[in-house]
Amino acid sequence: MLLSVVIPVLNEEPNVEPLYQRLSAVVETLDANCEFVFVNDGSTDRTLEKIKALRAKDSRIRFVDFSRNFGHQIAVSAGIDHARGDAIVIIDADLQDPPELIVPMLEKMREGYEVVYARRVKREGESWFKKWTAKFFYRLLRRLASVEIPVDTGDFRVISKEVADVLRAMPEKQKFIRGQISWIGFRQTFVVYERDARHAGKTKYPLRKMLRLALDGITGFSTVPLKFAAILGFLTAGLAFVLIIWVLVLKAIGAPVEPGWASMMIVILFLGGVQLICIGILGEYLGRVSDAVKNRPLYIVRQTSEPNFSTDDK
Ligand code: UDP
Ligand code: MG
Repeated sequence: MLLSVVIPVLNEEPNVEPLYQRLSAVVETLDANCEFVFVNDGSTDRTLEKIKALRAKDSRIRFVDFSRNFGHQIAVSAGIDHARGDAIVIIDADLQDPPELIVPMLEKMREGYEVVYARRVKREGESWFKKWTAKFFYRLLRRLASVEIPVDTGDFRVISKEVADVLRAMPEKQKFIRGQISWIGFRQTFVVYERDARHAGKTKYPLRKMLRLALDGITGFSTVPLKFAAILGFLTAGLAFVLIIWVLVLKAIGAPVEPGWASMMIVILFLGGVQLICIGILGEYLGRVSDAVKNRPLYIVRQTSEPNFSTDDK
């Protein structure tokens, strides 16, 4: 069995060597061949030199060097594209994801699971702001998303070759890998761990990138926000309707009504409602267009009764 370890790196110069040491110690204990696929996501420090120096000593090391920074999710996608393993580990370079966890993860794979992700039960050395926004985001996403995306789970996981093949064939441009893997299905399970603090350096995920990731996650796996306009529209139109009845009742019983006020309110609420409902209709179409543009496979087959019946032409 060949195990690929995919490692996206952006300015991780002080972490490359310690990560390599810990990873090698772990894979030593495994009954598997191994390759390390570093994806250098436009580092401006000496990260790439460090990787090259390691490669000179250890031929299991491979790297993909980006022309500039394309972002973490794209770096992971590139790593998966280049990985040749029967199982692929995705791991951060800053040692926040303990490499030792790969051992129990692979054990689960041997039990027949095709995806084993790592769920954090505790995060060390991160700001309360990051912890709370992350917590909130995962719970929001779980409510909105059309597939079950596990909470408190990053990209640290092991996936089988079959899952990786489907992932490579998903042509969508907005990558949210943990969502894609949930969407793919197969047998998935998790192990829990306590997330360590960063070994060295600062986070490469500033608020701007975090927001971007959150939006990619929500827009990629939910059309609920598109329905907001329609819901608001029906509420507004409903309010106009109630108002109409109320004004008619007032008129009928001869109560004094400010001339013009009622008709103004009714027209405003009614038109507002109509407009929001129309935007909601557009939203429904847009949701379908965006699903079509993502061009995901309609279904994924694990196996069929006929051994030579194949749904893909790899
Ligand atoms: N990373 C990357 N490109 C980016 C941002 C991050 O390749 O644009 C890498 C980074 O080097 C690290 C991993 O992605 O190996 C996770 O980033 P980081 O640890 O900074 O994120 P955090 O743990 O703070 O959420
Ligand atoms: Mg980190």
